[in-house]
Amino acid sequence: MVITRQHIVSWLQLCAEVFTEQRDFLTRLDSDIGDGDHGLNMNRGFNKVLEKLPSVADKDIGFILKNTGMTLLSSVGGASGPLFGTFFIRAAQSTNAKQSLDLPALCQMLKEGSEGVVMRGKAEPGDKTMCDVWVPVVEQLERDRQGNLDIIDALRLAVDRAQQALESTITMQARKGRASYLGERSIGHQDPGATSAMLMIQALYQVVTR
Ligand code: ADP
Ligand code: MG
Ligand code: MG
Repeated sequence: MVITRQHIVSWLQLCAEVFTEQRDFLTRLDSDIGDGDHGLNMNRGFNKVLEKLPSVADKDIGFILKNTGMTLLSSVGGASGPLFGTFFIRAAQSTNAKQSLDLPALCQMLKEGSEGVVMRGKAEPGDKTMCDVWVPVVEQLERDRQGNLDIIDALRLAVDRAQQALESTITMQARKGRASYLGERSIGHQDPGATSAMLMIQALYQVVTR
């Protein structure tokens, strides 16, 4: 099994659906420790991505991902726009000219995306950000890749890891972004951006299993 260009297109479409459905939930999470716009931001960004998909859907995976990143960068403000934008733009680099991805290529794509976010946002593990999901997910996939797992099995494990990692943000104190202004009062709440990162991995798994 490989991930095809069509899977990538379907993934982005599903992300747009998920961020419409989860808009109010994400916004509520962000109201607890931020300014209450995260759901609106993700929903707006992925609606724009969806609008532009028909014009890029027949291009290679790198092109589609780069376009997604630029769209998020230009349509989503705040912290998450540039960070998710960077994720896709960096993920696009290793998938340039590719029509499909095997597990090592998928792993590389997510690794570069994740490293881009870490570089741009300078968050460390434990800072209660989306990086607390991206980094362990990539580590999990790298282990699976060495174990020669099938992509579907590897992604199922990655989703499990993402869900655990997301839950672990609840007890963290935020050290980056708006939530950090709350200091200790940020403890006890799930991070909105990490929730979005988990939803994106979950959507990718759903697309390859349907
Ligand atoms: P804003 O905080 O500007 O309103 P959003 O509400 O859309 O933007 O996004 C907030 C999310 O962005 C946080 O939950 C966190 O996961 C993520 N975030 C904030 N700062 C950073 C950072 N420096 N590195 C990684 N992620 C960050
Ligand atoms: Mg916000
Ligand atoms: Mg904001």
